[in-house]
Amino acid sequence: MEQKNTKSLQKLSKLRRQHKGLINLMPLQTGGMLTDAAKEALTEFGDGYSICDFCQGSLCNITNPAIRDFVRELLPQFLGCDVATITHGAREAKFMVMHSLAKPGDSILVDANRHYTTVVAAERVGLNVVEVPNSGHPEFRVDVNEYAPLIKKHTPKLILLTYPDGNYGNLPDAKRLGEIAQEYNIPYILNGAYAVGRMLVSMEEIGADFIIGSGHKSMASAGPVGILGMKKKWEETVLRKSDTYGNKEIELLGCSIRGVPLITLMASFPYVKERINHWDEQVSKAQWFSAELEKLGFEQLGEKPHRHDLLHFNTPELYEISKRVREKGYFLYKELRERGIWGPQPGLTKSFKLSTFAADRQQLGFVIDSFKAILSKYS
Ligand SMILES: *Cc1c(COP(=O)(O)O)cnc(C)c1O
Repeated sequence: MEQKNTKSLQKLSKLRRQHKGLINLMPLQTGGMLTDAAKEALTEFGDGYSICDFCQGSLCNITNPAIRDFVRELLPQFLGCDVATITHGAREAKFMVMHSLAKPGDSILVDANRHYTTVVAAERVGLNVVEVPNSGHPEFRVDVNEYAPLIKKHTPKLILLTYPDGNYGNLPDAKRLGEIAQEYNIPYILNGAYAVGRMLVSMEEIGADFIIGSGHKSMASAGPVGILGMKKKWEETVLRKSDTYGNKEIELLGCSIRGVPLITLMASFPYVKERINHWDEQVSKAQWFSAELEKLGFEQLGEKPHRHDLLHFNTPELYEISKRVREKGYFLYKELRERGIWGPQPGLTKSFKLSTFAADRQQLGFVIDSFKAILSKYS
């Protein structure tokens, strides 16, 4: 036991991630890669509670480092909302809204492409989750007009739309849902974990009550960190304060992000704010890449033409190969890895997701050629 313990401790003293220089196509990771400014801030503020030097009791009011300006001015303007706050992630943001606005036994209406954390957050609050179906294979589209009859039928306390969803990268008509929410007077949560920080999304423009983003998913932050924007009218409900400690928000358990996740989010923000202007190029890059992979016999799922860098492919040829090689499903990971590509989740060959967000056209060209070479190697 003692000896085993020593070995485990030794492992901790040399933690490594063999990742340098790889072309990264993993959807979870492409929008969360740090800027140089964030890497610098990461070491500068690496110590515990480093951002709390000049805190006077309310994290979002700290002026050194400039958290207050970031949260009170820059973020609301970026999100097109009245009030913003910092959370531990997109899921915690969803939970705190649900927990503030609904009670156990109430219902929430969500799209069928919702992220699993939407369901788990609702469960933690004790809500019934009702789903608006998608159109099924191959596009899995959500028609937001289908919210209306289900609102009448279930009288939910909240509605939520995933924009885009993390499975197909579909962008449903969020603005139309804003009109429906208004018509039925139901608070509307826009889950933009894969949108905020990649593309322009304005809560006001869309007509939502809440907008949610994820720092480590799409805002070049180490994370875990989320952002939550809302209409002014919800501030007193969602950001209500403790009776005992007048400057501590209850839903955030007093203070939210107390260090590196927030500081890296802030350090990357000027870059993130600028990069959303190049979204059109991101979309055309994704469409070109998808078309090239379809020429190899892969089937792109989700909306076509696609409007997001997150792409989901069915790849029956690769699956057939995996059945007859020694490494089974891991052969694809190994083949790509040898070529300097970090892409599909290791082990998957039947269908997988890729994101073109962090790679340039030249790198993507190399990825396409690599898939070609792998297919012909095993044919
Ligand atoms: C990744 C993801 C989340 C979870 O984000 P966290 O910030 O890690 O909680 C939620 N919703 C969608 C659609 C996602 O893709």
